[in-house]
Amino acid sequence: MVGNIITEFTNSRTRDMLVDAIKASSPAMPVTIVDVRWNTYYPLTGEYRPATFGSWLQEQGFNYVYYQRLGNPFKDMADVTEMERKYKEYAQSQIDFGLLVDGIIQGDGTFCLLCYCKPPKPCHRYWLQHLLLDSIAALHRDFKCRDGVGSSFKTLN
Ligand SMILES: [Zn+2]
Repeated sequence: MVGNIITEFTNSRTRDMLVDAIKASSPAMPVTIVDVRWNTYYPLTGEYRPATFGSWLQEQGFNYVYYQRLGNPFKDMADVTEMERKYKEYAQSQIDFGLLVDGIIQGDGTFCLLCYCKPPKPCHRYWLQHLLLDSIAALHRDFKCRDGVGSSFKTLN
């Protein structure tokens, strides 16, 4: 089995609102929240701090992993096209990228890439989603993307 990949965001949402949005998409279980925020101090309520957020998610029946190094260190660049190019080059050089590809290939259910940014703001989680799909497709010839909510999927053949 290969896990499905969706994305979500925290901006302007409480933790309950986030979990409700994920559940509303009827994700295949189990759901693993893959936190890829470079900074985790937004929102400022503290409820999204990785330590407390992770244990709270586990109480809700979700898995949680935090890959800060898959966050976007170029997020303040004005040129979005250049930011995307730099991020993709950077992300694929991170060991966490390989670990995540492995986790999804060997995993089951749904993997939800989580960042702060509310659409339509450009966010690295979509670039990361496509990088992961490309890597998994290259390793798994039979891999077909399934639809996700809040995500822009491309069809892979
Ligand atoms: Zn983002």
